Amino acid sequence: MGGGAPSRSEGNKNRIGGIKLFRIAGIQIAIDFSWFIIFFLIMWSLSAGYFPHAFPREKTSVYWIAGLSATILFFASVLAHEVSHSLVAIRHGLSVPSITLFVFGGVSQLGEEAKDPGSELRIAVAGPACSFVLAGFFYALSLLAGRLALNPIVIAVLAYLALVNAALGVFNLIPGFPLDGGRVLRAIYWAKKGSLSKATKLAADIGKIFAVFLIVWGGLQVLAGALIGGLWLVFIGIFLRSVAQSGYREMVLRHMLEAARVGDIMVRDVVKVQPGEPLDRLIKDYFLHYGYKGFPVFEDATPVGVVSISDVLGIPADVLPAKSVREVMTPISGKFLVSPDTPLTEAFGRMRQDGRLLVMEDGRFVGLITKTGLLRFLELKRALEEQEETRERQE
Ligand SMILES: [Zn+2]
Repeated sequence: MGGGAPSRSEGNKNRIGGIKLFRIAGIQIAIDFSWFIIFFLIMWSLSAGYFPHAFPREKTSVYWIAGLSATILFFASVLAHEVSHSLVAIRHGLSVPSITLFVFGGVSQLGEEAKDPGSELRIAVAGPACSFVLAGFFYALSLLAGRLALNPIVIAVLAYLALVNAALGVFNLIPGFPLDGGRVLRAIYWAKKGSLSKATKLAADIGKIFAVFLIVWGGLQVLAGALIGGLWLVFIGIFLRSVAQSGYREMVLRHMLEAARVGDIMVRDVVKVQPGEPLDRLIKDYFLHYGYKGFPVFEDATPVGVVSISDVLGIPADVLPAKSVREVMTPISGKFLVSPDTPLTEAFGRMRQDGRLLVMEDGRFVGLITKTGLLRFLELKRALEEQEETRERQE
């Protein structure tokens, strides 16, 4: 189970997939549709496989009631693991909008990164700690049920829950990102070296190695005839590998954006368009001439709108000379405006809808930032950072 994979995907922050269930401490709990498949598989393998085999004398209905109870309590355990992470995260001042239960367990969606290695460590450890406590709890209950001479199936269900919770704790402590153990490793390395991005890279690399190991091992199991169990490992491996990959990439991007402000990358020398410009001239003298996809529209020194190539596409050629920029432009509004002090993370989020933002300072136009410009900036930063890393490795 990739039980401990709090994902920090900004794009998904407000989008909860699957079915919303209820809230715990303000956190929306949801289940993904893929979850039903695994729920049924586990219940079926217990009720139609394990229990009839281990306790041949019971009625079929008893097997299914025991299987259903064990499966529900298993998922409640996975949920408790995730909620533990989230409650500690909230106590350390982070926002946790939602937890979604997936095929491989649960994923908490943290709104942001932990602010220091200490809180990262505590958030990471909370999940496995909860699983081990639950394992002990169910183990104690199974002993008690044995003393009271309850139906052996009840004891088997409790023992099963003790085992899966222990397994959940152990599996998640494997030291590869995105598993909890990878986060622990990352926190320790982060505290030692002071660099979150290097710590994440190390933990993600180990996570990818572990994921490949799972895929290969699962493949060998399939070849040896254990089809379901083998495929299972392969799927978990593929899932973990992709999370390790995207988790690291996103972290690097966020890291680069966080330090910079709009003023650092804005273009001051901007080509301006007049609102009265006919559209045929706009295409010939601006779009084709400069090669940009959009221009700010100015009435003297005041920005009044933004015109982009999509505004003129689809207008018949013979109509173009008769129409002016003013008729097709998007009038200026607050959503187009930023200040030079705006962090790039915020500007980047807003540019997903609009390709360019106008930078205003004290009511005056001072520059322009575009998505292309921002991507070029990130490309440059990445090249410089890679060079830095190579130099450090050589020393
Ligand atoms: Zn966890």
